[in-house]
Amino acid sequence: MPELKCTVQTCVHNQKFLCDLDSIQVGGANAKNPQETCCDSFQERKEGTYTNSMNSMKEASDMSGVDCKATNCMYNDNCQCHAGKISVEGGGAVEASGTECATFQCHCG
Ligand code: SF4
Repeated sequence: MPELKCTVQTCVHNQKFLCDLDSIQVGGANAKNPQETCCDSFQERKEGTYTNSMNSMKEASDMSGVDCKATNCMYNDNCQCHAGKISVEGGGAVEASGTECATFQCHCG
């Protein structure tokens, strides 16, 4: 289970660069670079969700399970991420495709 840092502050799950989900889904089945991956668990923070979020009382931890479809990544083993820590990025994202796993490293050579 990697340590997860996330810069996507437009996501409802982001709390001070940590994610309040116990596990996230990363997409990018044919990805060859980080830009082709995305965090499928992204959910846009809309007005009101600050207080209405079901998770608003939950503490975000820095560890998250990562179910990852980017199987070209060297850290991917059977769709589980085995990196020590990962960084999800996407400033100003309004949908999942605006995010990426910046730690993705292709073993495609
Ligand atoms: S580091 Fe690789 S295996 Fe881990 S979440 Fe990112 S793309 Fe997936």
